[in-house]
Amino acid sequence: MSRNIYLNGEIVPEDQAKVSVFDHGYLYGDGIFEGIRAYSGRVFMLDEHIKRLYESAKTIMLEIPLTKAEMEAAIIETIKANDLKDAYIRVVVSRGIGDLGLDPRKCPEATVVIIASGIQLYPEELYQTGLKLVTVPTRRNAAEMVNPRIKSLNYLNNIMARIEANLQDAPEAIILNNDGYVAECTGDNIFIVADNTLYTPPIYAGILKGTKREVVLKIAAEMGLEVREDLFTRHDLYNAEECFLSGTAAEVIPVVEVDGRTIGDGKVGSKTTDLISRFREIANSSGREIYSE
Ligand SMILES: *Cc1c(COP(=O)(O)O)cnc(C)c1O
Repeated sequence: MSRNIYLNGEIVPEDQAKVSVFDHGYLYGDGIFEGIRAYSGRVFMLDEHIKRLYESAKTIMLEIPLTKAEMEAAIIETIKANDLKDAYIRVVVSRGIGDLGLDPRKCPEATVVIIASGIQLYPEELYQTGLKLVTVPTRRNAAEMVNPRIKSLNYLNNIMARIEANLQDAPEAIILNNDGYVAECTGDNIFIVADNTLYTPPIYAGILKGTKREVVLKIAAEMGLEVREDLFTRHDLYNAEECFLSGTAAEVIPVVEVDGRTIGDGKVGSKTTDLISRFREIANSSGREIYSE
């Protein structure tokens, strides 16, 4: 089935959704993106995603040719144009067409693409059995380089990590920061449970500030867990009672093994199970309505 794509203000069929080879998103990875999800006819955490998109744009001095309200409307319009209720939405804003030099002043207008699709990242079975992950040699880029807070089109660092995980047949990579503390995964944030406390690396560890990370921290506190944003090492990870990841595509997904070490008893932990069901409840019952007007 052919999708309908938003491209610079128009909805066009997939086979006509083409971007120039002179777009600096293509030539240099100069741009930013968002991954958003809709559940049962509502866009989950739309405002949070839009806020992060415009923050990424501000840092890289990219002017998005739409107001936040117009961007929200364009996202809703794209979902409607594909008749979707449950969707994965990819928003890409690249520097636009320029010359072969890397100077962004040569790119007068950013390119805006919105894709609404029906993908699901992991099979449901893995939410019951959990992931077996590895830590990889590639480190998360330091905040004074391309800051991990920017959801940029320049994901080669994460792709290197993903390749290293692939070489060990692992479905995701755990990436350390340059000081050797656990940072995050290639597209998900990471959490461990120990002594009735939920730990996740702090923003200053050098991570992407996940919207679903925020939800998890909130739900965990409501469930009576102590919540701490604190640095931890692989040792803490190996000896944790539970471990899981969060992200828009993956939602909350359990981890049962890291680098050949079994986490807890090797089964999905009870707190993780509770968090998954609470997360799904919230995701399916909140957000911006798509088909209200
Ligand atoms: C997008 C992303 C996440 C998760 O962010 P969510 O807003 O929760 O989807 C985590 N890490 C990286 C590197 C990401 O790109």
